[in-house]
Amino acid sequence: MSGSLVSRRALVKGAGVGILASASSMMVSHATQAVAGKDSLAMKITEVKATPLKTGTIIVQVLTDGGVVGIGECSPMNAAVIAHFVNSALKPLLAGENPLEIDKLWNKMVFRTYKLGVQGVQPEAIAGVDIALWDILGKVAGLPIHTLLGGCYRDKILMYASIGGGAEMQPGQMAKRVETFLARGFKAIKIRMDWGVMRQDADPKKDLEMFRQVKALTGDSVPLSFDANNGYSVSTAIQQGRKFEALGIYHYEEPVAQYDYAGLAAVAEALDVPVAAGEHEYSRWQFRDLIEQGKVDIIQPDVVKCGGISETQKIAVLGSVYSKQFVPHQTQPTIGTAANLHVCAASANATRPQEYTGDKPELNEVFKEPLVFEDGYMRVPQKPGLGLELIESKMKRLIL
Ligand SMILES: [Mg+2]
Repeated sequence: MSGSLVSRRALVKGAGVGILASASSMMVSHATQAVAGKDSLAMKITEVKATPLKTGTIIVQVLTDGGVVGIGECSPMNAAVIAHFVNSALKPLLAGENPLEIDKLWNKMVFRTYKLGVQGVQPEAIAGVDIALWDILGKVAGLPIHTLLGGCYRDKILMYASIGGGAEMQPGQMAKRVETFLARGFKAIKIRMDWGVMRQDADPKKDLEMFRQVKALTGDSVPLSFDANNGYSVSTAIQQGRKFEALGIYHYEEPVAQYDYAGLAAVAEALDVPVAAGEHEYSRWQFRDLIEQGKVDIIQPDVVKCGGISETQKIAVLGSVYSKQFVPHQTQPTIGTAANLHVCAASANATRPQEYTGDKPELNEVFKEPLVFEDGYMRVPQKPGLGLELIESKMKRLIL
């Protein structure tokens, strides 16, 4: 029923959210898809499909009997495995269910597949479905997701350029790459070493020189963060961190192994710079442990990894309980970024610049109106749902 308008009654009954009772006629006119003539409380999911693309992207589509289609995205690592999880383990749990009952469905997906793993594949697959369910709710309500999450604290978000590959580069090469991002208008930068736990303390002197050369470019006006990608021992991380502090560092990310909460806490307690971690955590319970035991200052859930919008917002709120800053990990340029923008826009503690790892132009063509990056900022989508509309015929050209 694309293009028809949702009735005020359907809005109020369907979404079941108090805020919608005051939905204005303007909100209704924004609806791009609707469940016209059908009580949205009786909506049913008719199909769930995850499709891996040549770009390394996994698109999830949730179809309903009302004609509304939601889109989502999963983390792309081992796309075939993740897509198979969605299509074989999650789809049977969702068929015939009301897509608007997102929290009920989230718990059903998590606890009915719990023994298949609560880190990695399972929450990453659930993430794609959960984002699609929020897209459906937004389209039915005629409201952007950030409104449904509680409101838009900011309608544009400062992005930091997240530039990886430091391990394989010489300092001058990284400095040249950073220059290209500064020329594109980025007002905040992070350099990533990509060491990983298997190359601990490989070349801290080179890392320091790289940071020094990049800092000479960014100066004091452009915040510069450093991501060790789990590559230091605790003592190296502390020594290195003190040198970064002397030069001026904005945040210090994953200095030690992701599973070493005691080591993280030792680094965080020894240094003044905010220590960040969380891209290897998948749920609110793991973030509780990361915060309480790892003592990090900045939490970094990834919306396409940790169970989608539902769980990412819960993690943001959990962080607010402990006065932690919310700076999600994010590497997917279209649906993942849109979902992340909605959560960040609706989170009071998402005040710092947010991660931007680059776009994929061939993927932008799959959507009617790509996300807008302008002068260092991304605009928060304001259309119903995610605010991205998939062109299925163009997506099909990218199917593996
Ligand atoms: Mg990182």
